[in-house]
Amino acid sequence: IYILAIESSCDDTSVAVLQNDTMLSNVVASQKIHEEYGGVVPELASRAHQQNIVPVTTQALARANIDKKQLSAIAFTRGPGLMGSLLVGTSFAKSLALALDIPLIEVNHMQAHILAHFIKTENMAPPAFPFIALTISGGHTQIVKVNDYFEMEILGQTLDDAVGEAFDKSAKILGLPYPGGPLIDKYAAKGNPNAFEFPKPKVKDLNFSFSGLKTSILYFIQKQTAQNPNFIQENLEDICASIQYTIINILMSKLKKAVKSTGINRIAIGGGVSANSGIRSALKDAENELGWTTYIPNFEFCTDNAGMIGIVGYYKFKSNQFTGQEISAKARYNLTS
Ligand code: ATP
Ligand code: FE
Repeated sequence: IYILAIESSCDDTSVAVLQNDTMLSNVVASQKIHEEYGGVVPELASRAHQQNIVPVTTQALARANIDKKQLSAIAFTRGPGLMGSLLVGTSFAKSLALALDIPLIEVNHMQAHILAHFIKTENMAPPAFPFIALTISGGHTQIVKVNDYFEMEILGQTLDDAVGEAFDKSAKILGLPYPGGPLIDKYAAKGNPNAFEFPKPKVKDLNFSFSGLKTSILYFIQKQTAQNPNFIQENLEDICASIQYTIINILMSKLKKAVKSTGINRIAIGGGVSANSGIRSALKDAENELGWTTYIPNFEFCTDNAGMIGIVGYYKFKSNQFTGQEISAKARYNLTS
């Protein structure tokens, strides 16, 4: 089975080609234009997708050394995401499936972040069902019980900001360019995580809240810079380490709760923030100290990529889950619906 997969939910245009569960190519065109604006500008994102989608597709086929006539199906991200961005990928996928007269498969982006673990890689076996998935991305923070490929149950989620937003907004307060998450990670590596203390939110059950943290960081920085205008420059590494430490503590304490309440200790992370070195090492520690088995995706499968859309496409193909040409993009698309 050859699947061509298309991802265009936010600001990355990506196309991948898979042969069964093996990835032959995974081309990602990241849009640089948004950096100037300190965040993703939806209108500009749609336009860039429009410009990128054909060349990225051509490149993905070329790298896979596959002719489009060999393709078995087209998989695409239907949602959740920015409507204008999703429309580009959805329309393109429909046209391509129609032109090639092959089946069309719609994919939920958040399911894809979880099922990215099933892309065949040399260094890792996928988690056995059931497992707990922690999806940490730019728009979501969820703890999900994964019973089977398409049987997922949300155990908890954020009530306000996503963890990626918490990273990016904190970075913005520090004057770092967008997206600031990876930069906080970079500076945190050299800082002292206990240098500054930020309050942890009190949220019930397995839910999260990150908007209060952002506000307390803002007040803290305002207060410090009023006394010392160079406070940020002089303490950047310690501030970043302390912010990252706080966020990771929040995530880990909820994960521990989830393990306790479900009795499942296979933990898989997904989404852009799983690229963070702090969460990666906290999970490695949990393997040694708590006996968990943790699944951490390769970097290229953490942030948005079409490879993860392709693997969902493959499993949907195998279970005959196809869609018709009447399908439309869905900006709000629940993981379990
Ligand atoms: P969603 O998947 O919820 O629709 P999205 O697709 O925009 O959102 P992703 O591409 O999965 O999000 O992740 C992007 C987020 O990951 C950004 O907020 C970015 O700052 C964050 N991120 C990426 N690398 C790191 C890192 N090393 N440390 C912290 N955050 C990171
Ligand atoms: Fe994503």
